[in-house]
Amino acid sequence: MLLSAHNSSVQGTSQVNFQMNYCSNCGKRVTERIPEGDDRPRHVCEACATVHYQNPKIVAGCIPVWKDRLLLCRRAIEPRHGLWTLPAGFMENGESTEQAATRETREEACATVENIELYGVFSIPHINQVYMMFRADMSTGEYQPGPESLDVQLFEEHQILWDELAFPVVRLTLEHYFRDKKSDHFPVHVGNIHQHPARQG
Ligand SMILES: [Zn+2]
Repeated sequence: MLLSAHNSSVQGTSQVNFQMNYCSNCGKRVTERIPEGDDRPRHVCEACATVHYQNPKIVAGCIPVWKDRLLLCRRAIEPRHGLWTLPAGFMENGESTEQAATRETREEACATVENIELYGVFSIPHINQVYMMFRADMSTGEYQPGPESLDVQLFEEHQILWDELAFPVVRLTLEHYFRDKKSDHFPVHVGNIHQHPARQG
């Protein structure tokens, strides 16, 4: 596992640590070892004694709803170019999760949302990400593709292209959503997504 830890890939490859060669504090070369009192390898700078911890990143996303339909974006970027996704992306420093989900919806779909409510927390351990998905009402029926989207469309459940969804977390979120929609009861879902054994990337 640790030998494959440095295969750097944007998404979908098992990775424990991103490769780091030089200390961002003093510029000297770092080594990888288990610091005293720790239980896993870290990038350690022997020159200035800085331990460079790496931790999961949070992805915040939205289920934007307008009059019984929800908004999906067709990706204009890799990975999964051309496939459909919910607007979502990495949080920026200084943001709340709600602000990040709202911003991603604005950037990817040029749509504004309100009444945002937490709906799903999904850990994806093999890529060190945690998705926080929110339900939200679109403020108006207006939307259009942002720079990262080829297309943006409102979908009813029967119109969803289940085989053309970009990521398992999108499928899982939509499955929960349409199931809960039948009873109009939307509890928060917490789950984990594990790497598909047949697909290592
Ligand atoms: Zn250093």
